[in-house]
Amino acid sequence: MRVGYGWDSHEFRDGVPLKIGGVALAHHQGLAGHSDGDVLLHALTDALLGAVAAGDIGAFFPPSDPKWKGADSAIFLEVALKQVRQAGYAVANVDSTLILAAPKIGPHAGKIQARVAELLGIKADQVGVKAKTPEGMGTDNAAIAHVVVLLEKRTETKSSPAKRASATQRKSSGS
Ligand SMILES: [Zn+2]
Repeated sequence: MRVGYGWDSHEFRDGVPLKIGGVALAHHQGLAGHSDGDVLLHALTDALLGAVAAGDIGAFFPPSDPKWKGADSAIFLEVALKQVRQAGYAVANVDSTLILAAPKIGPHAGKIQARVAELLGIKADQVGVKAKTPEGMGTDNAAIAHVVVLLEKRTETKSSPAKRASATQRKSSGS
């Protein structure tokens, strides 16, 4: 088993759509960032990469690269998940805490939980989504996410030899 941890923060800005955990939330501000600013998916991506010692989100998707401007953060997560699978692991469970003043996450937590589980190919009860307000932190204009993941060794039964070979090929040709 392996554990991974990720953290991210983004600033709220006018005229930007808000997306957290792959879910669009109605709010008068969104999270500024080079991509879609999805703070939860970024922390989750870093947690997955960290769990298999594969570096971090910035190494895979440099903010200096115009290619990632406005990008759907689900793409980042998919690449991190591929790294996890290539290392021979599967996601056992995820736990997360969001820290933001507004909007209230409670009413949307179930939807975020379901979407994150869908993106990871696991069940909703393997994804924890918690939220707090930043009491005394002075970070009311930001959203912060902390994520931990637990990985378990993948059982080989589902993976065909051909699939394994192509996975190895991709790994050796990747950056
Ligand atoms: Zn980010």
